[in-house]
Amino acid sequence: MSDRYDVIVIGAGPAGYVAAIRCAQLGLKTACVDRWSDVKGKAALGGTCLNVGCIPSKALLDSSEKFHEVSHTYKLHGINVENVSMDVAAMMKRKSKIVTMLTRGIASLLKANKIDSVHAHGKLVSPGTVELYDVETNEKQGEITAGSVILASGSTPIELSSIPFHGDRIVDSAGALSFEEVPARLGVVGAGVIGLELGSVWNRLGAEVTVLEALYDFLPTADEEVAKEAAKQFSKQGLNIQLGARVESAQVSENGVEVTYTVDGEEARLAVDRLIVCVGRRPCTDNLLGESCGVELDERGFIKVDDNCLTGAANTYAIGDCVRGPMLAHKGSEEGVAVAERIANGTGHMNYETVPWAIYTHPEIAWVGQTEKDVSAAGGKCKSGKFPFAATGRAKAMEDTVGFVKVVADAETDRIIGVHIIGPHASELIAEAVVAMEYYASSEDLARTIHAHPTLSEAVHEAALSVDGRGIHRVN
Ligand code: FAD
Ligand code: NAD
Repeated sequence: MSDRYDVIVIGAGPAGYVAAIRCAQLGLKTACVDRWSDVKGKAALGGTCLNVGCIPSKALLDSSEKFHEVSHTYKLHGINVENVSMDVAAMMKRKSKIVTMLTRGIASLLKANKIDSVHAHGKLVSPGTVELYDVETNEKQGEITAGSVILASGSTPIELSSIPFHGDRIVDSAGALSFEEVPARLGVVGAGVIGLELGSVWNRLGAEVTVLEALYDFLPTADEEVAKEAAKQFSKQGLNIQLGARVESAQVSENGVEVTYTVDGEEARLAVDRLIVCVGRRPCTDNLLGESCGVELDERGFIKVDDNCLTGAANTYAIGDCVRGPMLAHKGSEEGVAVAERIANGTGHMNYETVPWAIYTHPEIAWVGQTEKDVSAAGGKCKSGKFPFAATGRAKAMEDTVGFVKVVADAETDRIIGVHIIGPHASELIAEAVVAMEYYASSEDLARTIHAHPTLSEAVHEAALSVDGRGIHRVN
C-alpha cells in the first residue's frame, strides 16, 4: 500500500466502490477505505446495499414470492403441489451465499482495477489527508494522502428514542433480514419502502403483519392512483396497514412486544412477537470529519454539497446516501461516476430528474419523474395516458394482471415528464421510461416505437398512445 494517491474514496458501498472503479479506469491512482466487516471480521465490500440492503432483501423477496406462488397461483396453471413448506434456514443460507459472492466480486473488481482496498475506519482530517483507524481496536494505523477525496459513507437506520432496538425483538431492517423463523405476529413501524418490502416477505411466509404508519397518506411520493391500487392490493394480501398511527412506546417481554400507539388521539395497543422499526435512514458521518477539514453538515446531518457533489473543502466531494437526494444505490453510483469524471476531466453527467424508484413488492411499483400532482402544484399543465396490464396478452398469460402504466407528458410540448407503473416487472419496465426521458422523448416518440408482442412493455406503448387518446387495445 502506498501513502500518496490521486484519489481516496471513503466508503465502498454502491456510491464509493463505483467511484473508485471509474477513477481507476480514468488512470487515477486510487485507494478505497471501508470499515464494514463480515461475521469473521474480514472486509465485506458493497456497503449497506450488498450486505444488509438491496441484495439480501431482494433475495428474500424472491424466495418468499416463489413460496407464495407455489402455494397460491400454481394451481391456476394446472400445477398441483401438495405439502408445500418453507425452510427458513435454507432461505437464509441462500441469501448469505449471494451476499458473500457479490461482496467478494467487488473485492475482485477493485483488485483487477489496481485499487488499494483498505479495511479501516477513515477520517478526513484536512483536505487530502485521511487518517486510518483499526476497525476493531479503533487505534490509529497511519494516514494516507491524495489530491482529491470522495466521501461515500452512506447511511444507517434511524432509531426512535421511544422504541429503541432491543435484541431480536425490536429490530432494524438488518435484523428483519435475519429472523431465524417466521414470527407468528409481526409489527412494522413505518409504511415506507422497507416496511412494505420486508412486511411482504414475512407476510408471504405466513406472519400476521400489522404496519403502523404515522402519516394519513399512503406512499405520498408515489402517483396517487398507484398508491391507491397498492393499498388495495397489499390489504388483499393480508398486510394490515394502519395509517395515522403514532407509535408512543413499546414494552418488551419474554413473549414479545407490546406496542402502544395513538390514532386520532385514541390510544391503541398491538401485541406482536417481533417489531421492525423502519422509519427512515440518517446519513452516517460518525467520526468521519476532523474539526478543521472544511466539510460542513446541513441541519439534518447530510454532508453539504453543491450540484457537482463538491463540499466546502478543496477537492473534496461527497456522494450517495450521505448527501441530499434520494437514498438509492443507483443514485449514489451515478454520482460516483460523475465525480470521478469531474476529477479526471473536469466534467461529469448526473441527471437528478431521471432517477428511477422501484419498490419490489407484488405488484411491483416503479416510477420516474413527476406525478400529475407535482406538475399542478408547480403551476404546470400536463396530459396523461394510462393502460391496464389486464388488457395485455402477456400479463394474462402470466396470470399477473394487476396494475397499470401511466405516462405523463407536458401539455404543450408533449415531452414525457413522468412515468408511473404498478404491476408485473415494473422495476424492469421503468428503464424504458428512463431512457426515453434521458433522450427528451415525447409521448409521440414512445407511441411510434415498435414494442415486441406479446410483452408487458406493450402496456408502456399503449399508455403512450393513450396520452393522445389513440390506445389500440382499449376503448378511448
Ligand atoms: P452505503 O451502502 O451505506 O455504504 C457506505 C459504506 O461506507 C459502508 O460500507 C460503511 O461501512 C462505510 N463507511 C462509513 N463511514 C466510514 C468511515 N468513516 N470509514 C470507512 N468506511 C466507512 N436502494 C436501491 O436503490 N434499491 C433497493 O432495492 C434498495 N433496497 C434496500 C433495502 C434495504 C433493507 C435497505 C436498508 C436499503 C436499500 N436501498 C436500496 C438503499 C441502498 O442500500 C442505499 O441507497 C445505498 O446502499 C447507498 O449507497 P452508499 O454507497 O451511499 O452507502
Ligand atoms: P422511508 O422514508 O421510505 O419510510 C419511512 C416511513 O416511516 C414513512 O412513511 C414515515 O412517515 C414513517 N414514520 C416515520 N416516523 C414514524 C413513526 N414514529 N411512527 C410511524 N411511522 C413513522 O424509510 P425506510 O422505509 O426506512 O427506508 C429508508 C430508505 O432506504 C428509503 O427512503 C429508500 O431510500 C431506501 N430503500 C430503498 C429501497 C428500494 O429502492 N426498493 C428499498 C428499501 C430501502
